[in-house]
Amino acid sequence: MAAQETVDHKYVYDFAEGNKDQKVLLGGKGANLAEMTNLGLPVPPGFTITTEACKAYLATGEEPAGLADQISARVGALEAAMGRKLGDPEDPLLVSVRSGAKFSMPGMMETVLNVGLNDRSVVGLSAQAGGNDRFAWDSYRRLIQMFGKTVCDVPGEEFEHALDDAKRAKGTTNDLDLDADDLRGLVDAYKKIFSKHTGREFPQDPREQLDLAIKAVFESWNAERAVVYRRQERIPADLGTAVNVVAMVFGNLGPDSGTGVAFTRDPASGAQGIYGDYLANAQGEDVVAGIRNTVPLQELEKLDKKSYDELLDYMARLEGHYKDLCDIEFTIERGKLWMLQTRVGKRTAAAAFVIAGQLVDEGLIDLDEALHRVNGAQLAQLMFPRFKLDHEFQPVAKGIGASPGAAVGKVVFTSARAVELAGEGEQVILVRRETNPDDLNGMIAAQGILTSRGGKTSHAAVVARGMGKTCVSGADELDIDIPGRKFIVAGQTVREGDVVSIDGTTGKVYLGEVPVMPSEVVQYFEGELDPEQTDDPLVKAVHRIMTHADAKRRLAVRTNADTGPDAARARRFGAEGIGLCRTEHMFLGDRRELVEKLILARTDDERDSALAALLPLQRADFEEIFREMDGLPVTVRLIDPPLHEFLPPLEQLAVNVAVAQERGEDVAKEEALLAAVRRMHEENPMLGLRGVRLGLVIPGLFAMQVRAIAEAAVTVTRAGAVAKPEIMVPLVGAVQELETVRAEAEKIIAEVVGDSGVEVLIGTMIEVPRAALTAGQIAEAAQFFSFGTNDLTQMAWGFSRDDVEGAFFWRYLELGIFGISPFESIDRDGVGRLVRIAAEEGRAARPGLKLGVCGEHGGDPESVHFFHEVGLDYVSCSPFRVPVARLEAGRAVVETTGSDSR
Ligand code: ADP
Ligand code: MG
Ligand code: MG
Repeated sequence: MAAQETVDHKYVYDFAEGNKDQKVLLGGKGANLAEMTNLGLPVPPGFTITTEACKAYLATGEEPAGLADQISARVGALEAAMGRKLGDPEDPLLVSVRSGAKFSMPGMMETVLNVGLNDRSVVGLSAQAGGNDRFAWDSYRRLIQMFGKTVCDVPGEEFEHALDDAKRAKGTTNDLDLDADDLRGLVDAYKKIFSKHTGREFPQDPREQLDLAIKAVFESWNAERAVVYRRQERIPADLGTAVNVVAMVFGNLGPDSGTGVAFTRDPASGAQGIYGDYLANAQGEDVVAGIRNTVPLQELEKLDKKSYDELLDYMARLEGHYKDLCDIEFTIERGKLWMLQTRVGKRTAAAAFVIAGQLVDEGLIDLDEALHRVNGAQLAQLMFPRFKLDHEFQPVAKGIGASPGAAVGKVVFTSARAVELAGEGEQVILVRRETNPDDLNGMIAAQGILTSRGGKTSHAAVVARGMGKTCVSGADELDIDIPGRKFIVAGQTVREGDVVSIDGTTGKVYLGEVPVMPSEVVQYFEGELDPEQTDDPLVKAVHRIMTHADAKRRLAVRTNADTGPDAARARRFGAEGIGLCRTEHMFLGDRRELVEKLILARTDDERDSALAALLPLQRADFEEIFREMDGLPVTVRLIDPPLHEFLPPLEQLAVNVAVAQERGEDVAKEEALLAAVRRMHEENPMLGLRGVRLGLVIPGLFAMQVRAIAEAAVTVTRAGAVAKPEIMVPLVGAVQELETVRAEAEKIIAEVVGDSGVEVLIGTMIEVPRAALTAGQIAEAAQFFSFGTNDLTQMAWGFSRDDVEGAFFWRYLELGIFGISPFESIDRDGVGRLVRIAAEEGRAARPGLKLGVCGEHGGDPESVHFFHEVGLDYVSCSPFRVPVARLEAGRAVVETTGSDSR
């Protein structure tokens, strides 16, 4: 047998042979059991069957050659170590058969305890336990139940009903009141259920039990819930699970036995201390199953001081060893503590920061590692406004926190009503059973979305996250009646117009208006909370890690801001300039009239006078922004959208004209506008007359904007501040376009700037694929490039941004065509390749060419790492994303390849 083992591939590892870094091969549970074994902690002996064996089995439906023999050899060694034999009628060895994949998938796969019990060994088990018949029969009934359910697909409820019947017959609700005879009877009942569903007797051969359980664990990798969970958590489907076979220890041997779970710190807040639950006289799964009420772990000190102290010692050792929060499962058998599992514990966003900071203080990790252990998604979560929750507010339902945020509004049940009420200035919450593409307008109009069906990948969830809108999905306690415009929850009826508050982080739903406030972290970024003065551990930790990220990062972070207040806020949040100042808002509001004049102008004079009237207004806007950004660069984009966007919609104009005609009023202007709108109508406005094309077609338009920028810069500089304008030409696809605009602009700039010392750069956006592909030529005429990754994505994929996300992205996500919308996170292979080409060829043509990115990708964590890799100089994003980009730009530097933080 030993010879065979050396010939065959090694599929089975003793715990003493593995370590914590072998998660891919041994799964997380197996690797960590091995690590604890080698640390000298009391782990029951056992072995791990590798994920490779699982993958081989799943591929062929058969155990790979050599596996059975290797298992036999390990079982033999285990029997020798324990001095007991599997199936021995006098002194049997029992084992558990436990799943465990590379990434923790809590509760998704199978585990079978007490394997090795049969009609004969149950007697031996009782003798082992000093004649404890009750314990032995309880263990046996658990085996039949778990084995039946997980290995043979017997409906679990049938066992539960039989257990309830036994308790009812005894006049109790507590399973501890069942005595040995009751349990023996229950074993008979369970066996009948087993053979009714499987057509065979419960297997008495322990090795057959073991082999079937191992196969069931292999197969549980492809159970539907596991598949769904993996898709949600983006865990690859081809990893397979390992199987751990572990000698059983018993927490159900009496009051001096028990089982529990423990965390080395609070996974919710990160606070130091002992957190956990303990249940006396119980076996593993009872704690999580909530069969009986657990007690806080601290109570164990009174029940069993020796085990408690020992456990605390191991917890401290594990934390010191893993240098992180550990999550632990343990069992006490008659006063002897056994460690059954540990892993680096999952935690909330707040706890992630707090714990990273604490571990630095404790000297366990350095600041680089602390930075690595938090991420921008967590920081973003900490920046959402939160409900100011006093005790008077109790949730009435809890769904899935599908898209974070705190939203308050009047309940509406249809998209149309949402649009209508929002149009009247009301805040609304759109409530639906589930949403579909027809609800899109309502979702856009609403403050938040609440559904009673669907999970984190439902249409509502995906679209809401895409829009950054708060969403609670799958709140199934809500009984929604769409035609009746009401829902019932917790016995109360909520009608259209009633106010609710939904928390997209926790999934909780409240009736009435819960007040909101900016989070502490935002108060800190705003400068309202001094990190040195506060005793909020979260703010202190965020401050410390942000400071380190800033020291580390190579990428600069700018902001997208079009107004003075936005620019000022972004500057407080750490922006080092403006990467995108859109000028189109400067054509809205009371300036529409001037724009209409411009569009309707029939002579050069009419057009010039409209532009002349716009000039001082634009100049004032730029002055405000330059003043706020004193000393920092400000990239101003010349007007980009099609001009008809500034005119009233066609239908509205048509109605106006008809009504005015009816009343016999003068309709000349209305008619002229209507004619202009008809004339300017485009089938594909995003691909039409916009961006640089406007500048080339409408004489004087760009010139006016360039003049306003240059004059504002001179004014601000003469007043003692430093203005650093960078003029950016949108939608360039050919160098000739840029050259034409630039020649005109340079003339104006030279004339305005004079000897003021103001320097104005002229560059271009790279957002048309052709621009990326001819970047070498374009760089000859551009002093900087800024990648407009929204348009670049739109044109590279051929996706109409305004339509696709609601129309079919949910399906693309479901099919895995992409794991995340390419508008949310940059598509490295396609759009990213265009960015790479443009960066390389641009810099080859013009060494030192300044490269940046504007558009929301600039604030997306994954994308920031990509832009760092490609070697851009800066990213630019909306003010609230600036801290996220700073953090991720720092993380991109310390990131070590191959590490995973799941
Ligand atoms: P999960 O991954 O769902 O937590 P586990 O494999 O950890 O599943 O097992 C489920 C429960 O059974 C746990 O509480 C664990 O502590 C307990 N358990 C597993 N193996 C043994 C064993 N050999 N002896 C005693 N309890 C065990
Ligand atoms: Mg476990
Ligand atoms: Mg664009």
